[in-house]
Amino acid sequence: MARNQLRRAVIVAVGSELLTPDRLDTNSLYLTQRLNELGVHVRGKLVVGDDRADIAAALLAALPQADIVIVTGGLGPTDDDVTREAVAAAFAMPLEEDAEIVDAIRSRFAARGLSMPEINRRQALVPGGAVVLPNPNGTAPGLWIERPDVVCVVLPGPPREVHGMFDTVVRGRLAPAAGRQGIFRRVLRVTGRTESYVDETASPVYSRWRSAAVPIETSVLASLGQIELHLAARAETAEAAARALDAATDELATVLGRDLVSSDGAALEAVVGRLLCARGRRVALAESCTGGLIASRLTDVPGSSAYVHAGWVAYDNAAKTSHLGVDRQLIDVHGAVSEPVARALALGCRKLAATDYGLGVTGIAGPGGGSPEKPVGTVYVALAGPDERVRVRQLRLPGDRKRVKFQASQAALDLLRRALIRK
Ligand code: AMP
Ligand code: MG
Repeated sequence: MARNQLRRAVIVAVGSELLTPDRLDTNSLYLTQRLNELGVHVRGKLVVGDDRADIAAALLAALPQADIVIVTGGLGPTDDDVTREAVAAAFAMPLEEDAEIVDAIRSRFAARGLSMPEINRRQALVPGGAVVLPNPNGTAPGLWIERPDVVCVVLPGPPREVHGMFDTVVRGRLAPAAGRQGIFRRVLRVTGRTESYVDETASPVYSRWRSAAVPIETSVLASLGQIELHLAARAETAEAAARALDAATDELATVLGRDLVSSDGAALEAVVGRLLCARGRRVALAESCTGGLIASRLTDVPGSSAYVHAGWVAYDNAAKTSHLGVDRQLIDVHGAVSEPVARALALGCRKLAATDYGLGVTGIAGPGGGSPEKPVGTVYVALAGPDERVRVRQLRLPGDRKRVKFQASQAALDLLRRALIRK
């Protein structure tokens, strides 16, 4: 195939479960990233059930839009896996059993002390003229079918097998004919600011990069409790892209200042973890409305035992007073959701755990419990630090219970992050 012929791809995800509310097609996300790196644009995606006619129709519909069609899923040994048959029918290719594949599958079973069930023979059916792609992580091999105007790559469904096969065999076969320039991405995360503020601040910088030698396209995306800047550089090599992305990121870091959480896609909890680690500090938590979410997020990060000391979920007022030493009078006078109680929670857990920092959170996640003075979404986060100062933020968070909880955890972690970088 001539160089630079493969520029446009369509992905067809096959699986009836992908058309239910329970399962999402994630293979196409991975494939899109990898294809973009090769300079191949994904022009469309289709999701179809395990149905011969639907798969064939999807494939034929994709052909005018694509130089490459990647089909994933439905290569299993059972009757409901019909992708092989559908693809062969769409290209009018006869299916033949490949003796080598039968042997390979038999050996895979033998290696686990099992004999091959007869139904697995179906996985050895190959459309005449197709190239068989080895699958290091499973029994179903993939297929590479070259037609005059299109390459059709057929891969199994399990994500681990898709990733393995793309990286070991498909990428190498596509690369010589793929685009000269790949697309390389980077994500920056910003907290404590609105989408429009971030865009106003960042756009004078990123608009210049649009027409640079290594052009970078930037999009600003609001997600829960943070704003993300997605940078996509177009370059001939990963190294050239990395250099341009580093330079663009440095410029953006200058204008965004302390609001920039990470420029390598790292989540807030991971950034807080790195900072605590680097400064040799430890934290304790006293969580009311977040119900342990902050502890959970912090401990999602490997190595967090170095800096997370303890956390209390002090939900009931009695728990706040008896376990964390919050003065009953504070609750009676100001209410459980109040600045003085958040402050007392932060001080209480810091003292109990003898840590450098204590984070306290109290709030109304809803849907009940709000009042005119303290509506649903009213949250106080407090941070007690080594300087004996307590910083408190009052928040009015929008959204349902889950969204309020997440945004409260985000605000608390951000309070800690900002204290750590102040030093
Ligand atoms: P199959 O190749 O149809 O036997 O799929 C095997 C497993 O991979 C099942 O658990 C599927 O739900 C999963 N799977 C198939 N296609 C996808 C996809 N596009 N994204 C994520 N998982 C998938
Ligand atoms: Mg399936």
